[in-house]
Amino acid sequence: MELVVEAAEAAGLVDRIEAGHALTAEEALAVLATPDAQTLALVAEAGRLRRRHFGDTVKVNYLVNLKSGLCPEDCTYCSQRLGSEAQILKYKWLSTEDAAAQAGLGVRGGASRVCLVASGRGPTDRDVVRVADMIGRVKEENPGVEVCACLGLLKERHASKLAAAGADAYNHNLNTAESQYEDICTTHTYADRVATVEASKAAGLSPCSGLIVGLGESDEQLVEAAFALRALDADSVPVNFLMPFEGTPLEGTWELTPLKCLRILAMVRLACPDREVRIAGGRELHLRSLQSVALEVANSIFLGDYLTSEGQAAEADLEMIADAGFRVLGRAEQPAAPAAAGVDRPALRRRGAGTAAAPNA
Ligand code: SF4
Repeated sequence: MELVVEAAEAAGLVDRIEAGHALTAEEALAVLATPDAQTLALVAEAGRLRRRHFGDTVKVNYLVNLKSGLCPEDCTYCSQRLGSEAQILKYKWLSTEDAAAQAGLGVRGGASRVCLVASGRGPTDRDVVRVADMIGRVKEENPGVEVCACLGLLKERHASKLAAAGADAYNHNLNTAESQYEDICTTHTYADRVATVEASKAAGLSPCSGLIVGLGESDEQLVEAAFALRALDADSVPVNFLMPFEGTPLEGTWELTPLKCLRILAMVRLACPDREVRIAGGRELHLRSLQSVALEVANSIFLGDYLTSEGQAAEADLEMIADAGFRVLGRAEQPAAPAAAGVDRPALRRRGAGTAAAPNA
């Protein structure tokens, strides 16, 4: 195969993946090298895998940042890192009441999974007791909701305690390729991250582990990282697009285009056809007007805001899902597309030609 995927080749590749073929590194590189003009055709083919395994559903997740900033680790991409000058909210642990209240708002907004996240290298015994209490409260108040914890590097005994408290999943991203890891973090290793995913699996927690793309990685490193996630057997794979916060080392790093983001998502879908692929942080900044197109490949998003940055309005997220013909997983009542946007009639022009007001140009 040439190192560029044309539409017909993408169709053949997806046919073979549907028949059980595992995407090879050479094929993954070809997917990433798909020309811009062929990328929407690639998305349509990748969408066959998405619909085969997830139909027209979008799983909606909601983030609660339990503890923000003040982290002793030095991950270059992170606004909460040691020495970060990003003007983010900084606070210590939320109370159980506050955490449960925040989670409840996300569930009522349509989320079927709540992600309880805390900055830091990893939890202490006391932190795990605190989060276990929160998990119990969130589960009690929101029957049927899934809870994913994300607390940093995890010991097996802590993973078991979180599982016993009712946690369904544990998130710990590999973030990037092993071959790039030392460039993005010096305070812990890639192996530490793999060990945490393994510890969560050993405790019976569903492993959630994904990527941050746009860090300066090569296509080969993107493939290396995606294949590492496949080898780890992650159940869900969040794909973050770097948000280059001012006051962090990666400030000013803009390496992605909307079509490149689609190609990366398509490559991950083809590598992990039956796994939950989640469009995560940076969706609004990097996919821009193609956010809803990305739902044809990914089957999951976060609702509303991220850990330290604001996303588009939660209502707009739900409208986007409905407008693109998808429905929110687990939600009986789906949002009605046009009326929910608050735009139910044309706005009469009162600016530009024929007026003294500035035009919309
Ligand atoms: S990614 Fe996590 S461990 Fe790394 S600096 Fe940010 S909060 Fe700390």
